[in-house]
Amino acid sequence: MFDGYLFTPSLLHSFTLHLPLITTMHILLAAPRGFCAGVNMAIHTLHEAVAKYGSPLYVFHEIVHNNHVVEDFRSRGVIFVNSLDEVPNGVCLMYSAHGVSPEIRRMSAEKNLRIIDATCPLVNRVHQQARRLAAEGYSVILIGHAGHDEIVGIVGEAPDVIQTLSCAEEIETLRVPDAEKIAYLTQTTLSVDETREIIARLLERFPKLRSPVPSCICYATQNRQRGVRELAPRCDLVLVVGSASSSNSRRLKELAVRQGTPAILVDGVEELRAEMFTDVKTVLITAGASAPEWVVQGIVKKLQEDFQATLEEVEICRETLRFRVPIESGEEMRVFVH
Ligand code: SF4
Repeated sequence: MFDGYLFTPSLLHSFTLHLPLITTMHILLAAPRGFCAGVNMAIHTLHEAVAKYGSPLYVFHEIVHNNHVVEDFRSRGVIFVNSLDEVPNGVCLMYSAHGVSPEIRRMSAEKNLRIIDATCPLVNRVHQQARRLAAEGYSVILIGHAGHDEIVGIVGEAPDVIQTLSCAEEIETLRVPDAEKIAYLTQTTLSVDETREIIARLLERFPKLRSPVPSCICYATQNRQRGVRELAPRCDLVLVVGSASSSNSRRLKELAVRQGTPAILVDGVEELRAEMFTDVKTVLITAGASAPEWVVQGIVKKLQEDFQATLEEVEICRETLRFRVPIESGEEMRVFVH
């Protein structure tokens, strides 16, 4: 069987199967999967911005962490940047779903940029919690991946009091002025299980540690992980659809592997190859929160064609949350002109 740990897209060949179709495969298709409310809102907002303002339209960081989505917008004239130095004065700039620091907002104002803010409201909520804790005099431990766009933005809310913690091994390195006045926050897309373990270790060192209410790990992250937790044990392989840059997609793959089921992260149907499915009778397909459904369906179709795979969608829970996309309500987009 293909070992998910060793998968590297650069090694892939085109997925043309010439195998005798001796056995059939069964696909469990997890629901919910793919786009969350924040990604839907961000993508719709950028669609409308392109239609309304045309090119060039600048976006600070990838609008969401998915290569298909980014390339589609790039082909339509959207320019993704990682620094405001790349943005001319006075143009239109969108902030991605991952949010930005106050410093970026201040610099945008200095450059007279017209800002469209597509930050996910659930990321904004963590920013608000960080500001409130800092104002109340807390030292804040931010559990997450240093350097991730979301973490950079949140740290920027109060860089003097926020420390990033990537793993439990780093707990001993934390230094706080008052162990009675300490709180933690997390990135929205972390592993629920691993984060619980880190928090338990943090509590051993800081018994007065204050927890965020509600949890910072968002509903979409939790639901997709729950799908893998419940369905992966029934499968020989888990296919996680998503880009390598997607934090929540990588967490889904790791979760499956931690539970003992081999898992592969694939960006699209072009990354599949026959060897991945040797001895695979049941495969779970799920998708990270930034992976488009058309990519998932392309993979399902391919497996149906080449392995005569049968399909069963399993709904773990139903998601109804939607974030308001300004253009849909007939209002102006949220454009702020400084
Ligand atoms: S994964 Fe969660 S926090 Fe991130 S954009 Fe989606 S809903 Fe928002």
